[in-house]
Amino acid sequence: MNNDKFLLDITFLFPNTMSTYGDSGNILSLEKRCQWRGIGVNIHFSDIYDSIYLSDIYFWGGGQDRAQEIVSSNFSRQKIDFLGREVENNKLFLLICGSYQLMGKYYIDSNNNKIPGLGILDVYTQSSSKRMIGNTIIESNKKLSIGVNTIVGFENHSGKTFLEKNVEPFGYVKYGFGNNGLDKTEGALYKNVIACYQHGPLLPKNSALADYIILKALENKYGKGIKINSLDDSLEYEACDAILKKIKN
Ligand code: GLN
Repeated sequence: MNNDKFLLDITFLFPNTMSTYGDSGNILSLEKRCQWRGIGVNIHFSDIYDSIYLSDIYFWGGGQDRAQEIVSSNFSRQKIDFLGREVENNKLFLLICGSYQLMGKYYIDSNNNKIPGLGILDVYTQSSSKRMIGNTIIESNKKLSIGVNTIVGFENHSGKTFLEKNVEPFGYVKYGFGNNGLDKTEGALYKNVIACYQHGPLLPKNSALADYIILKALENKYGKGIKINSLDDSLEYEACDAILKKIKN
């Protein structure tokens, strides 16, 4: 399928302030998987004092408590309203860990500071004395219809996130802690917002999810019925299997 008439704008939010855990690899994955298909892609960057470029996909990574406090204390009303409108306009968002927490109502950090979130996701986060670190296996929520059930990742957080009524889980924990190490949920879904604790980075090892995000963004922009050609994902599947084998042995 000739995709060269398609163009996607992707914005990397807070790339200098909140990208502590290698999550920028998700931007690379989206960019290359578009380019390999001849889909045009523009990457934009928006940190604390920058405006946000109207985009088709927004990505925001993880960060330490201090970084989250800095970002939160510099949220402008304009930025909060803009991101809220984009979520309601069904734009694609991929949020990892610290950004997931900040898209919720609040995050009570390891010093018991209540860091206000954007209040866009119906979740709240409470720090815990025990950091939740390690490889993870997540069974994806069938609602995502990404064609695979198993998502692998790596988590590193002290925050325990609890889902309230307007969100669904991104998936269910088969190995690891997930949202809080208690209710076996992992991440959150709301409209086209995909939020989770999965570093790694997430998309290079879970190519079906990367393609889901790309296709959804294309459908949003150009209408339903778009087909994107499959890529040779043997390396990606090998990486995914390597983690599964490591965990199962
Ligand atoms: N600082 C937050 C926590 O510890 C988020 C960490 C992260 O983004 N990996 O829970």
